Amino acid sequence: MNKMLEDKAVLVTGGSRGIGAAIARRFASLGSRVVIAYRSDRASAESLSAELSAEGGNCVAIQADVANPEHIEALVAGTVESFGAIDVLVNCAAIGPYRPLGEMDAPFVKSILETNIMGVVLLTQAVLPFMPSPGGRIINIASALAYRPIPTSSVYSASKAAVVTLTHAFAKEIGKRGITVNALAPGVIETDMTTKIIAERGEQILAMTPLGRIGQPDDIAGIVTFLASPEAGWITGRTIIADGGVT
Ligand code: NAP
Repeated sequence: MNKMLEDKAVLVTGGSRGIGAAIARRFASLGSRVVIAYRSDRASAESLSAELSAEGGNCVAIQADVANPEHIEALVAGTVESFGAIDVLVNCAAIGPYRPLGEMDAPFVKSILETNIMGVVLLTQAVLPFMPSPGGRIINIASALAYRPIPTSSVYSASKAAVVTLTHAFAKEIGKRGITVNALAPGVIETDMTTKIIAERGEQILAMTPLGRIGQPDDIAGIVTFLASPEAGWITGRTIIADGGVT
């Protein structure tokens, strides 16, 4: 893959922390130009961007709430202003709160659907005019919970099942343009999103995992860069489950 992603303009949402930061780091290490998009953690996004730029990368941090359509337009405009095109979009931003039946209300459901589904739809649509055709790549981060939800994860799991279906449907819709759309469905990965779950159920998760350890953000980053590369040009509409063998 060495030179294949060199100079590619990559937009990673949720790039400030966790899995998105590992993805941004991996693209930068392969010579891609990277926009690290974040919602509120400016310090982490700017420090990652500065670190990768100091290592010779070409990275920019841009603030944008993907649940806000105006921010999406500004994020795309900022990316195009920085790099002139968008070769790869990685839709990684999401929120993952859990609540049991009986405790859900409309704002709770709406907040998950707006960030995890609407954000993916509107950003995908907004990047298309700036994506090479053929050759563009869209990679969505779903979740293994789309396939095996656990109690209290219902709305988050359903939002990720929607990402799986959007991936399949968008791939069919824009395949003629030579743009691929794929997704990854990680199992538990050690990030801020899973600190509580790992503290409460870490032993149980380890016991369920054939590969015998908790997944790390880097376990996901390499699959994303593979899907972004020309080597993956004949894969589209698919979701790869990457969970150490649990599912
Ligand atoms: P994380 O550590 O909680 O980071 C979430 C990232 O998303 C942050 O960069 C955050 O920005 C950004 N974000 C959240 N809401 C946003 C919004 N409305 N607009 C823009 N950015 C927003 O999460 P993670 O564990 O790395 O998860 C990354 C992706 O992997 C998510 O799609 C998640 O659903 C998926 N996933 C994670 C796991 C896991 O076990 N960790 C498993 C399966 C799937 P700020 O830093 O500015 O808040």
